[in-house]
Amino acid sequence: MPLALLVILDGLRRDAVSPERTPNLWRLRQRGTCFPAYRSMFPSATRVVSACTATGCVPASHGLGGNSTALLAENGRLAAWDAGSPAFLPARHTRHGQALFRPTLADRLAPHDGAVIFSNVSPGAALAHDPNRSGRVLHRVLAHRNGVEQAPPSDITLDAAGDARLTERFLEEVFPATGTGPALGVLWLGEPDASQHANPLGSPAAWAAIANADACLGRVMAGADRRRAMGEHVLLLAGSDHGHETVEAVIDVDTELAAAGFAVGDGLVAAANGSSVLVYQAPGTDPTPLLAFLRSRPWAGAVHAGEALVAIGQRPGAEGLVAAITMRRHNGMNEYGIPGMTLVAKPAAGKPDRLGCGQHGGLGAAEQAPVMVIEGPGFAAGAQDHGAAAPIDLAPSILAFLGHGDAGQPMDGAPLQSRPSQEPAA
Ligand SMILES: [Zn+2]
Repeated sequence: MPLALLVILDGLRRDAVSPERTPNLWRLRQRGTCFPAYRSMFPSATRVVSACTATGCVPASHGLGGNSTALLAENGRLAAWDAGSPAFLPARHTRHGQALFRPTLADRLAPHDGAVIFSNVSPGAALAHDPNRSGRVLHRVLAHRNGVEQAPPSDITLDAAGDARLTERFLEEVFPATGTGPALGVLWLGEPDASQHANPLGSPAAWAAIANADACLGRVMAGADRRRAMGEHVLLLAGSDHGHETVEAVIDVDTELAAAGFAVGDGLVAAANGSSVLVYQAPGTDPTPLLAFLRSRPWAGAVHAGEALVAIGQRPGAEGLVAAITMRRHNGMNEYGIPGMTLVAKPAAGKPDRLGCGQHGGLGAAEQAPVMVIEGPGFAAGAQDHGAAAPIDLAPSILAFLGHGDAGQPMDGAPLQSRPSQEPAA
């Protein structure tokens, strides 16, 4: 039975990978193919990337537009939503008849030994892998198996110890002592993201979180090796969903909009996504004055509207989306010499933004430089594939390995196996 394993070290920057700091990820690079041009999605945020990973599609296709976003009611009024809430995807289902507009890996693999997803990030991000409860999800506040809700575990905390316990549970599930395991196992660690939000990038606490997450990957690699020694094919994908940059200042976008005379509420939502903002307006409103105001703001690095939204994977008009702002940033260094400084938008909910600590969500160089290494058939040892690659390519790669196509439901991504851009080890 072939087995695909995906391990995400949430928030790990590509420039944090080294033989000393991440020995297991470094070892995996010698055994598999790495992707130096691998990018995140937009927004570069966990709930978005989780939905893109699960569906192989961009937000314009699957519909989960941001970590913070809006839902447009039938009466044309907007409601601001935190997509990290366990209530968000059920609310999307109530509104649209579907939580996501595209099938997930859990949906696709349900007839083929199924998928298990163990996630230690937000509940909404965990549920984005399987909102239809087609497979198995374990998270510290929610769990289900094959359509049945289960009591969540009581001992999984959002820290290195919780990640370690989740990893042990994951190994028991994907490598069962008896019986058949799943076709796909996804282990999505909460670190180093959680520690990087609370500590400066490059600080001892941030490096310790990276080391602990790398150790969790090492345990999965050992399990994969035991499975291969039994003659089974294993595809192991490991990396991160986005990077981090350092918060240089926090901008209260809602207060600025209100001061300029724009009525923030059920006709206008500015959803903070760290270093980006998604701006929604009720249908029938001329967006011209709003766009002109946003473009005049010194904290706005770029204001993407119309075709510029399409180019970053968003659908203009979806839930009333009129613009995405990427906050102003530069390549200067923080106190620990880690490059990438950004302004962020003050969040309505979710993780607090701490000055001098890590954040993400935009198109900044480090945010858009996550890690991906893939070991298994079609991925030569020590090779580098310099071609374009992103989280939407993971589901097609996993399905190709397992011998299942798109079953007539195409994805936006494409398999990464044996591409012409794969250069063998020197
Ligand atoms: Zn993340």
